[in-house]
Amino acid sequence: MADTIYTIPVSEAFEADCECPVCELRRRFENETVDYFAGPSLMEPDTRIVTNDTGFCSRHFGQLYASQAKKLGLGLMLDTYMQEQISRIKKYAGGVKVDLSDDIGGSDDKEPVKKGLFRKKAAAPSGSRNLAKYLRKHELECAVCKKLDYTMERYIDIIFHMYKSDADFREKLRNTKGFCLPHTALLIETAEKKLSGRAAEEFCDTVSALLIKNLERIEGEVDWFTKKFDYRNVDKDWGNSRDALPRGIQKMTGNIDVTK
Ligand SMILES: [Zn+2]
Ligand SMILES: [Zn+2]
Repeated sequence: MADTIYTIPVSEAFEADCECPVCELRRRFENETVDYFAGPSLMEPDTRIVTNDTGFCSRHFGQLYASQAKKLGLGLMLDTYMQEQISRIKKYAGGVKVDLSDDIGGSDDKEPVKKGLFRKKAAAPSGSRNLAKYLRKHELECAVCKKLDYTMERYIDIIFHMYKSDADFREKLRNTKGFCLPHTALLIETAEKKLSGRAAEEFCDTVSALLIKNLERIEGEVDWFTKKFDYRNVDKDWGNSRDALPRGIQKMTGNIDVTK
């Protein structure tokens, strides 16, 4: 259980000066995973089987595109991924038999319009419905998200394992700036499953107290950010308010992309 592959990143994230160590863990692993897929692994047959099958979500295709300087590997991957998906789409859309060179409506000639509409109505629904169903399912698949979801679950397990067994880690957690709203909810919900009564209560109280204390801190920083626009405050110190907006947004939503 105390596998250093998992415990070291958890310890590091809980030592980082950030608004949410779980967001921090997620960002670090997301970057590593995108680098993995952008690197030589794109050319490995085993990886190609996975990427042809699931592809990537819009966010991660975007990150892969931005991370590859030459883009050849990404191009080769996209090529075989599209070939695979075209063959699946043809299979799912098997019931659709509309010849696009045919006139299916909009003509002044009554006869072909009637014929075209009838043919489309009879053939399209089941094939198109299967196709839409497949496309919706495929939309949710992503090789990076899959790895990320799996690993984040392990990291959450490790956080509770370390909280149970390591007094230094409990102290480390108490000294963080707490967690973002979504991760606070996740940790409280998971505590009931991972910790026994007394420990679960103590954990949830700590996480809730950290949230309230740090929300008030950031709100004060955001407030000072807005007051700095008043000419009377121009010469006063920024304090911690210069980057209060991205940190406030991260705290409220878990969106770490706005912070550097
Ligand atoms: Zn978070
Ligand atoms: Zn994704």
